[in-house]
Amino acid sequence: MEIAKGENHYTATCASCGKDALKVTELYTDIPRFGNAVMITMNCPDCGYRVFDVISLEDRGPVKVSYHVKSPRGLSARVIRSSTSTVTIPELGLELVPGNRSDAFITNIEGLLDRFLAVGEQLVRSAEGEAERKNAEAAMQRIKEAMDGRVAFTVTLSDEFGNGAILSPDGDPPSPSS
Ligand SMILES: [Zn+2]
Repeated sequence: MEIAKGENHYTATCASCGKDALKVTELYTDIPRFGNAVMITMNCPDCGYRVFDVISLEDRGPVKVSYHVKSPRGLSARVIRSSTSTVTIPELGLELVPGNRSDAFITNIEGLLDRFLAVGEQLVRSAEGEAERKNAEAAMQRIKEAMDGRVAFTVTLSDEFGNGAILSPDGDPPSPSS
């Protein structure tokens, strides 16, 4: 399937404030081993509403994969996470589910851990008691060990619309998970 590459820019009605000020950019691109996709960025200068999403233009069907990180090299596997993808790291007790405020992103596994670390920092700051703060700190410690390559762990990604993927650094496909 041949799809035009390039960018479209237009203005639309903001879903948040209702003004016709929403700046939309659609970037059509071919992501290696993922295929044709459109990356959508929406930004309302009036109210600050922002959205980023990735939509596969291939007929990929539901995706469910897991990737085992056994060495620091595995941290460079790319993660394409759309607003409809669920990402979990069971060994670290981490989970990212689709929801109102769930952002799409394209990063590597190190970047993914960085995002979880930022959430951990927020939890430490907003903790209401000693136990809650200690839990959040322990979770952050485990994430840091994973980032240093000191613990092996598994990243799973599922997306019922096929808009997500994990692309290993060696080009071998992640194993399908059940
Ligand atoms: Zn707005």
